[in-house]
Amino acid sequence: MNNSDRSYGARAPALGFTSDNIAGASPEIVEAMVASSVGQASPYGADDLTARVELKLNEIFEREVDVFLVPTGTAANALCLSAMTPHWGNIFCHPASHINNDECGAPAFYTNGAKLVAVDGPSAKIDPASLRSAARVKVGDVHSTQPSCASITQATEEGGVYTLDEIETIGDICKASSIKLHMDGSRFANALVSLGCSPAEMTWKAGVHALSFGATKNGAFAAEAIVLFDASLAPEMGYRRKRAGHLFSKMRFLSAQIDAYLTDDLWLRNARQANDTAQRLTQGLAGLNGVEVLGATRANIVFCRLPSAVIESLHQAGSKFYHDRWDANVVRFVTAFSTTFEDVDNLLAHVTRAVVAR
Ligand SMILES: *Cc1c(COP(=O)(O)O)cnc(C)c1O
Repeated sequence: MNNSDRSYGARAPALGFTSDNIAGASPEIVEAMVASSVGQASPYGADDLTARVELKLNEIFEREVDVFLVPTGTAANALCLSAMTPHWGNIFCHPASHINNDECGAPAFYTNGAKLVAVDGPSAKIDPASLRSAARVKVGDVHSTQPSCASITQATEEGGVYTLDEIETIGDICKASSIKLHMDGSRFANALVSLGCSPAEMTWKAGVHALSFGATKNGAFAAEAIVLFDASLAPEMGYRRKRAGHLFSKMRFLSAQIDAYLTDDLWLRNARQANDTAQRLTQGLAGLNGVEVLGATRANIVFCRLPSAVIESLHQAGSKFYHDRWDANVVRFVTAFSTTFEDVDNLLAHVTRAVVAR
């Protein structure tokens, strides 16, 4: 059964393209949560559903992994980083990264003072040569915070996707520098279907030690999995999560979401829908006079430059999206698992009319 076959109330055309977290949740996930609400289950993750999620993630990653479910991506990221970084550590990240811009200092808070060090690069991807240099600065100098880990976002905040070669290169640099590698996979599935590779290839086989495996933006209510490939990080994680207030007593409700997410490839189907609608949007925009598409669309985020009059007209028509945050007239459209081709065609029709009327 496909997403559009079932609806919870009549579905109005989606006008919002601000982010993928304005979407609701997949019916399969809603139903799984309802089903899991019946009867008793052991608390704090000692239930059958949680065990099943752990097994599923072992299968998906083709090895044993340690799994800790949490409700937000910020918690997943900050907890992963806290396990990889001493208080005096450096965390290398892109200046545009979520951990740097959108987590209110959670990485510094959870690590008890580690320092985020920005390493730039195009499409919000860390440039490997710059990382190599940064990881050599003041190593062993007691006056300076010390290289501890790097964090890459896959897919990135600007809709970029690291290729497997690029992840491997960064993984090799981290290994050579004796630092760990974290992946913020808030949009992991979008990147995975974009590359068409296996989850193992995109993570531990390329040198990733810890992953924030996102589900919220791709069809869950609120569920993310910390997936650890480095077993040495696992023993402390249980304490870290509890101390941070993120150990759910009714864990089955987080597990039910991830379990449904991973059943019958829902996570991959949802990501494909988001990516395909983004592609359609990009292709439609590319043909319009006065519209400049910026960068390739690799996942579910589209950047373009629109004339001010067109932005104004879209707003008047009720469209919602971010603009002028990056540069003048730069617009970001984000599609989600629930975005339909019709939604995209409606948006394109508005843009087309506004471009002509200008
Ligand atoms: C949305 C997002 C997160 C998680 O955000 P929360 O609001 O804490 O769930 C993490 N990283 C990136 C790149 C994101 O876009």
